[in-house]
Amino acid sequence: MSGRLTVVGIGPGDARYRTPEAEDALAAADALYGYAPYLDRLPTRQNQARCPSNNRKERARARSALQHAAEGTCVALVSGGDPGVFAMAAAVCEEIEAGPAAWRSLDVRVVPGVTAMLAVAARIGAPLGHDFCALSLSDNLKPWELIERRLDAAARAEFVIALYNPMSRARPRQLGMAFERLRKYLPPTTPVVFGRAVGRPDEQVSVTTLAMAEDSADMATLVIVGSPQTRVIVRPGRSPLVYTPRAAQGWPA
Ligand code: SAH
Repeated sequence: MSGRLTVVGIGPGDARYRTPEAEDALAAADALYGYAPYLDRLPTRQNQARCPSNNRKERARARSALQHAAEGTCVALVSGGDPGVFAMAAAVCEEIEAGPAAWRSLDVRVVPGVTAMLAVAARIGAPLGHDFCALSLSDNLKPWELIERRLDAAARAEFVIALYNPMSRARPRQLGMAFERLRKYLPPTTPVVFGRAVGRPDEQVSVTTLAMAEDSADMATLVIVGSPQTRVIVRPGRSPLVYTPRAAQGWPA
C-alpha cells in the first residue's frame, strides 16, 4: 500500500511554533484534512486538496483521512497543539482498531507539536516545573463523575493541574464546578493561570488565585491550577512569574 497518513501537530497558533518536521509533513501531503480554522492557518500549495471539517466530527474525519490514504494518497491530518493530547492521533488509532484489516498495513505516522499547556506555561514562567497532570473538562466522552474523581485525586496528590476544554457554550458550568471541587483541597491562595489563544494575535494570559478565580473562559482557554507549592514572584514593572519549585517536601499532614 503506497498511501500514508501523517497526523501532524501544528502547535497552538503562531507558525513559529511548528516544528520543521511538521512543515515537511504538510508540504509533502497531497491532501490535508482537519478542522477548518486550523487548515486556514496553513500555507497553501498547488495541487494539494483541502478537506476541512467540523470540529465535532472527529471520528468521521479520521475515517475519511484513513480511507483516502488507503487509496494510495499521501494524507496529512492536522491537529492543533500536539495531535496526541486530546486530539486526532487517538481518534485515528480508534478507527484503525475498529476499521477494515487493510488499515492496519497503512504507513501511519504522528508528528508531535507544542501542546497548549506548554505554550501557556512558557508565557508565565514555569508552573509545570514539578509533577503535574492534564485533564480535559469536557464530558462529551466521559461522565462528569469521573472528572470529579480525577480532580479530587489530582488535588490530593498535590499535582499541578492543566485543564483543557474548560467550558463552552454547550457546557457553561464545568469550570466553576471544577474550581469548587478543588477549593475543598487546595489553599485559597493557590495560583491559577488563564491562558487564552496563546500564540495567536488575540492572546491573553492572566494570573489569579483559586479563591478569586472566576468561571469565565472559553474553548480557546487553558487553565493551570497550581499545587500548594506553586509560587508567584511579583516584579516591578514586569508581569509576575508563576513557578513550581523542582523540589517538594514529603506528604502534607
Ligand atoms: N491537541 C491540543 C488540545 C486539544 S483540546 C493541544 O495539544 O493543545 C482543545 C483545548 O486545548 C482548548 O479547549 C484549550 O483548553 C486548549 N488550547 C488549544 N489551543 C490553545 C491556545 N492557543 N491557547 C490556550 N489554550 C489552547
